[in-house]
Amino acid sequence: MENKAVVNRIIPFSNVDGPGNRLAIFFQGCNISCIYCHNPETINRCISCMACVSGCPSGALKTCDEGVIYDEKVCTECDRCIKTCRYNSSPRAKIYTVDELYKIIDDYKLFIRGITVSGGEPTLQAEFITELFKRVKPLGLTCFVDTNGFFDRERISGLIEAADKFMVDIKAIDNIDILCGTTMKNNIENLKYLLRLNKVYEVRSVIIQDYMDVENTLFTVASILKEYPEVIYKLIRVHTQGLRDEQKEKVKDKVPSAEYVRQLGEKIRDIGVRKVELII
Ligand code: SF4
Ligand code: SF4
Repeated sequence: MENKAVVNRIIPFSNVDGPGNRLAIFFQGCNISCIYCHNPETINRCISCMACVSGCPSGALKTCDEGVIYDEKVCTECDRCIKTCRYNSSPRAKIYTVDELYKIIDDYKLFIRGITVSGGEPTLQAEFITELFKRVKPLGLTCFVDTNGFFDRERISGLIEAADKFMVDIKAIDNIDILCGTTMKNNIENLKYLLRLNKVYEVRSVIIQDYMDVENTLFTVASILKEYPEVIYKLIRVHTQGLRDEQKEKVKDKVPSAEYVRQLGEKIRDIGVRKVELII
């Protein structure tokens, strides 16, 4: 049977998803749910409840026996359907075969340095992406994976081998259940594993007060990364723009000061991390 995957959206040109100009593919489905998630519509698969259909102002959504039919030709990208959906999904997600994605990438290959798979959590669709990477690499493009750090190393061993680099979130160490609604705890071990294989491009931590063990998380990561001078450690101050109202309520009083983030950056440099980037 042909390998297929659900894709939330494709951005042909991105300069924030790894080095150079990259085509970014956002896969549908995530294994965690973070308080500050800026792509909550990528978390779950559509359950065909049809709640979004009648609210579409341009008639881009219709119902059929299999679920929602989406017509991108008339969609105005108003995002009303995403705001309506209570299941953290999107009626605009589409099923692709490896061949279909390959053809899109091939069309852009002269203008990009590589592709990055993101989400959601792309490692949930590891088999599909492994096949995609094997097709894409002969085009001379690099293949990156943007992961939340929670994956089964054995299950995705083929993907680890096929990928050039990973960009790994370390969201928290002790408070991960409160911040991300998961009992998984293997993010640090997974990071160390990928580092030993020379597969890490950058590590990112979003800084939010109270919901995460900020200094424990950042200084633990820094003490690991000091041995890997080529790896970037990016500290991102949480922000509320683009969050849903219920998320904003939780986050609005937890945004750290820019000065505090700068101080954390200095401490991390003092620990020995060479490449520290602050997104304030
Ligand atoms: S974004 Fe959603 S609601 Fe808006 S036009 Fe497109 S399908 Fe309809
Ligand atoms: S996208 Fe959300 S609201 Fe629309 S049919 Fe699917 S689950 Fe229901």
